[in-house]
Amino acid sequence: MTKRTLDDLKLLNKRVLMRADFNVPLSPEGKIEDDLRIKAAIPSIDKVLEDGGSLILMSHLGRPGGEVVPKLSLKPVAESLSKILSREVKFADDCIGADSLALSSSLAAGELLLLENLRFHKEETENDSEFAQALAAHGDIYVNDAFGTAHRKHASTYGVPEFMDTAVAGYLMESEVKYMSELVENPRIPMVVVLGGAKVSDKIPVIKNLSKLADAFLIGGGMAFTFLKALGHPVGKSLVDDNLVDTCKEILRELSKKGINYHLPTDCVAVSSVDSPELGDVCLIDELGDDKMGVDIGPMTVAEFDHVLEGAKTVIWNGPMGIFEVPYWSNGTVSIGRKLVELTKAGATTVVGGGDSASAMKQMNLSNDVSHISTGGGATLEILSGNPLPGLEMLEEKE
Ligand code: AMP
Repeated sequence: MTKRTLDDLKLLNKRVLMRADFNVPLSPEGKIEDDLRIKAAIPSIDKVLEDGGSLILMSHLGRPGGEVVPKLSLKPVAESLSKILSREVKFADDCIGADSLALSSSLAAGELLLLENLRFHKEETENDSEFAQALAAHGDIYVNDAFGTAHRKHASTYGVPEFMDTAVAGYLMESEVKYMSELVENPRIPMVVVLGGAKVSDKIPVIKNLSKLADAFLIGGGMAFTFLKALGHPVGKSLVDDNLVDTCKEILRELSKKGINYHLPTDCVAVSSVDSPELGDVCLIDELGDDKMGVDIGPMTVAEFDHVLEGAKTVIWNGPMGIFEVPYWSNGTVSIGRKLVELTKAGATTVVGGGDSASAMKQMNLSNDVSHISTGGGATLEILSGNPLPGLEMLEEKE
């Protein structure tokens, strides 16, 4: 991590404008279902308040599409934060404008304010310069602690620093970037990369970049079917991205040329439709009927993946092995999660790259039993793909 952080600044009597990631899951009644992201921001919040700064927090929540959607107000986050910190958290009904500015400029040292959802303005995702300037007016110092949004070129992550004299990383950003960067720069070997999930397009750059380092790739989930199709296997009605079949063929050819092992499912749980969850039948991939779709990896594949993982010193996992949200189809994902825990106990470095695989670990109550679970799926994929993070690029370099 070459960026300046909160530790490099004097914060006394400064107004600190901090981009946090409070994009928490909400129940249909609007209750916060998981406050992990709020708690992850506490070390940076504490630092500012303890050092005598005043703090203006900003975040997005959900996808209101540039309109005020009351259900996506950050007010419940202010209440939750207030309970966690045992102190008052002021709340501004808008993130820009005279009223919110009056609130932010009247904060005393040690006080904090949360601004309303940034994405109630379409200018946020458009990285509109005037909007960024209006946000920047809230503070003297900019801190980006929103690792989960660092891959976005939005006003609050990319535009605001242009209008501030000082722009540094918060502790969460620092620790996430440090962990992931060290991992991909200098991993303990052998390194095995486990990929799954639906979107093969997201994972292709990861395979390309990590093929410099990895000893083996295990590919499961919906994305495996595009690779299987590329190799001429039957895929039935399974999820396939037809535009990427040739690219997948090319990638597998490259891996073989470099002598890197890759493993695709040899069996799967097959069902007729995803709309009416049923147990499904286990079948060999080569026996998958035209009217069936694969929704989980099968037991033979689980055994093979376990065997490859045995002895790995570094494991990176991104994407579930099946539609794990349906308990009938969660066995592959659960098995990988459990294997990672076993490897962690044996001394391996095991990293779960955010998103759905992180939710699966949480569902299994195993979040604390691996080396690291990232708070940002998209940002993690960018680092694993070897791409810069826009939200990090704009921060000052250490001297
Ligand atoms: P991604 O965001 O690309 O990591 O995709 C995560 C989603 O992939 C999860 O919601 C899973 O339900 C879904 N998924 C995993 N395996 C399959 C599959 N075999 N068919 C369809 N969807 C899948």
